[in-house]
Amino acid sequence: MTAETSMRDAVVIGGGLVGAAIAWGLARQGLKPLVLDEDDLARRASRANFALIWVQGKGARAPHYARWTLGSARSWPGFAEELTQLSGIDIKLRQPGGFTLCLSDAELEDNAATLAGIRRDTGGEGASFEILDHRRTAELLPGLGRAVVGSTYSSEDGDVNSLRLFRALHVAMARSGVSYRAHSRVETIHYSGGLFRLEGPWGTVEAQKLILAGGIDNGRLASMVGLNVPLQHSKGQIVVTEKLAPFLAYPLGTLRQTDEGGVMIGDSEDTVDTSPRADPAINAVMVRRAIQMFPGLADVNMVRSWAGFRVKSRDGLPVYEQSAACPGAFVAVAHSGVTLAAAHALALAPQIAAGPLSRELSPFSTARFHVQAAA
Ligand SMILES: Cc1cc2nc3c(=O)[nH]c(=O)nc-3n(C[C@H](O)[C@H](O)[C@H](O)COP(=O)(O)OP(=O)(O)OC[C@H]3O[C@@H](n4cnc5c(N)ncnc54)[C@H](O)[C@@H]3O)c2cc1C
Repeated sequence: MTAETSMRDAVVIGGGLVGAAIAWGLARQGLKPLVLDEDDLARRASRANFALIWVQGKGARAPHYARWTLGSARSWPGFAEELTQLSGIDIKLRQPGGFTLCLSDAELEDNAATLAGIRRDTGGEGASFEILDHRRTAELLPGLGRAVVGSTYSSEDGDVNSLRLFRALHVAMARSGVSYRAHSRVETIHYSGGLFRLEGPWGTVEAQKLILAGGIDNGRLASMVGLNVPLQHSKGQIVVTEKLAPFLAYPLGTLRQTDEGGVMIGDSEDTVDTSPRADPAINAVMVRRAIQMFPGLADVNMVRSWAGFRVKSRDGLPVYEQSAACPGAFVAVAHSGVTLAAAHALALAPQIAAGPLSRELSPFSTARFHVQAAA
């Protein structure tokens, strides 16, 4: 490949859900960003996720995160409409509310206490919720197993077809003037005289603004612009059944029927294993629990399973920050990149385009990790 140098008003490193949402959002502000991405087989959370737009339980002891998540969920209808109009792709958004099913009284009490805590800590602005017993839950979820003692329901939860969302964002990017370049892993970043110089075997690019959205590579990338972004290892697995007639009108935190009919099951987290393969023993636990919730699933074929790596900071909350050492460089880390796609495109990107991030986003800076380290 011929080496080349070009100058851009903004470069986004990473073309996953976070980078694509931000790049499209920057284009909506009149910029002409370039997205540099890796190859098809790169580790990419955006092709491995569960596709929930989920507010329930988000923001325990972090009211800023509860508000940010809820704001994104509420922006989703307008975001989806604009994206669908521009891309011509129906991303199958539905926000009918969602359930967290509980298999013991203790689980239900714990869950309800967490949701109540979020409401309290946000001064009542957090997602509202209801606690339902088995009978009421079964009325809304036909086929529910006797093992489910009850549930919590929040009317603001939903889901989407995540692969269609990913595709729609890339089509929208292209139609809005964003350039996208695959096979372009950024190896080094240099900052001088207010410009960023990015290099890899594919060539060199210079940029006035730089957005780091490289998923699990963001720790390494951030260190090159003077930021310390501690990430934790988090592997998740998903199992999918054969296609079934529609039976589940609502998404659940651990189980959902897609618009195409398959049932996705998955809520595992492994903080040690780095293998990209799904562990059958973990799948067995997830499926056993799913069958307790819906005994009819015992007669259904499981046809696929995969593992993915979440993009998760040390405390699990997003990281958004502009580098003080290299102004113009921003980092974006989010382990709920589907839920937050609307916020990234419609709220974060305009701030990046304008310059400084708002006070609303300051609790998401890496300063919170430095305080902990010094304590
Ligand atoms: C099992 C699982 C279930 C999940 N379920 C949900 C859910 O239900 N709801 C929800 O909201 N979120 C969910 N998530 C999280 C969501 O998928 C992620 O938050 C989101 O995909 C992160 O997007 P990203 O763009 O940051 O990262 P990625 O999708 O990993 O993309 C990063 C991109 O950067 C590229 N890249 C990396 N390094 C470089 C480099 N040096 N140069 C150039 N390019 C580079 C990579 O090739 C990749 O394309 C789930 C994740 C997993 C794994």
